[in-house]
Amino acid sequence: MAHVVGVVGGGQLARMMIGPAVELGVDIRVLAEAEGAPAQLAATMVGDYRDEKTVREFASTVTVLTFDHEHVPQPVLASLESDGVAVRPGAYALGFAQDKIAMRRRMAELGLPVPAWAVVSDEAQLDRFISEHGGRAVVKLPVGGYDGHGVRFVSQASEVADWLNPDALLGFPQGLLAEEAVEFTRELSQLSARSPSGEFAAWTLAESVQRGGICVEVVAPAPHADKALADEAYRIAESIASGVGVVGVLAVELFETRDGSLLINELAMRPHNTGHWTMDGSVTGQFEQHLRAVLDLPLGDTALTGAAAVMVNVLGGPRPGDVDEALAKALSVDAAAKVHWYGKEWRKGRKVGHVTVVAGARGGEAVSDSIGVVMDARERARTVARALGAE
Ligand code: ADP
Repeated sequence: MAHVVGVVGGGQLARMMIGPAVELGVDIRVLAEAEGAPAQLAATMVGDYRDEKTVREFASTVTVLTFDHEHVPQPVLASLESDGVAVRPGAYALGFAQDKIAMRRRMAELGLPVPAWAVVSDEAQLDRFISEHGGRAVVKLPVGGYDGHGVRFVSQASEVADWLNPDALLGFPQGLLAEEAVEFTRELSQLSARSPSGEFAAWTLAESVQRGGICVEVVAPAPHADKALADEAYRIAESIASGVGVVGVLAVELFETRDGSLLINELAMRPHNTGHWTMDGSVTGQFEQHLRAVLDLPLGDTALTGAAAVMVNVLGGPRPGDVDEALAKALSVDAAAKVHWYGKEWRKGRKVGHVTVVAGARGGEAVSDSIGVVMDARERARTVARALGAE
C-alpha cells in the first residue's frame, strides 16, 4: 500500500500538514473531533479520539498514525501498538509529552537540566517546597494543560486549594507538579525531528515571546545566541529525541537564565507553534519534516532561507463576515509577508493564524546587522498581523 498518513486531531497543525503531504504525493487523512475543524479538507472521519474503537477504525485506513495533539489516552495508544499499527511518535515517547511529572523524572534520569521540582499532594508539602525555593513556586497540573491553563504562580499553597482538595486530586492521583519559579531572561525553543531509523535534524535555536502563557512571537535565530548556547540546546534536543525515542518533530521549550544556562520547560512531540517560522524561513518546514520523519523518509535540510525569520501569531482576528476584507488588506500591506490562516472563527485570544516575515540574505551577516534585520522583520510581521485583526 502506498503511504497513507493518518492524523488524529483536526486542528491547525493537522491542517498545515496537508500542503506538504500534497507536495510529496502522500495521502493524508484526518480524524477530526467535529465537522468544520481547521483540517476538514482532509478529514475522512469525525469522531472521538478518546474512543478506542473509533481510533482503531481510523487507523485501519492508514499506514502510519500521527497526531495534531498529544491527548490520545495511553490505553488507546497501547492497544493500537499491540495491533501492529505504526504509531509515531509511539506511546512510550508520547507519555512524556502527556505527563509533566513523568517528563521531569525522565529528564532528570537523562541528566538534563530542569528547574527544581517536586510532586506535591497536599498544602503542607507545597508550602514546604515554596519556603525552600525563595517563597514562590509554579504549580502545574501534570496532564491536560495547554497555553498556560493548568499553570499557576503561587506564594502560598492556599492559592491552589481548589487543585489540592481530595475531589480535584481524584483526577491527578499521582499529585501535582511544583517547580521553582525560574527567573529566566527569555524563553527559547529548540525544534528538531527524528526518524524511526534514528536520523536527527535540528533547526536553528529560536526565541519565543509568551504573553499570559500564550506564544505571541518567535524570532529565529534567537538574537545574541552564541555558539555555546546553540550547541547546548542542540545537545539537549538530541539527548531527548534519542533518550525517549521520539519520532517526528520534537519541540523543546527552554528557559535561558541570567548566567546563560538552559533549563527545559516543556516538550511537544509534534509540529509546534514555535516552529511555524520554518514553513517559510527554512528549506524544510516542520510540517514537511514531520511527514518525512513519521514515514521514515530522509529528513530535509533545516537551513534558514534568509538571515532571520519572525513569526507573529494572530490572536482573535476579524469577526465573522470581515475575514475576506481583512485578508485582502493584510496581503496588500506587505507582499513579501507570508500569511497563514487556519479557517477558525473569531474568539477572544484564539490563535487563528500567523504571519512570517523572512528578511536579509541567507548565510549569516554581522550580528549588529541581523538585529536590525530582526527589528525590521518584526515590525513588518506585526503590521500585517494587525491588519488581520490581531488583538
Ligand atoms: P503549557 O503546557 O500550558 O504551555 P507551560 O508549562 O509551558 O504550560 O507554562 C506556560 C508558561 O508559564 C511558560 O511559557 C512560562 O512562561 C511560564 N512558566 C512555566 N513554568 C515556569 C517556571 N518553572 N518558572 C517560571 N515560569 C514558568
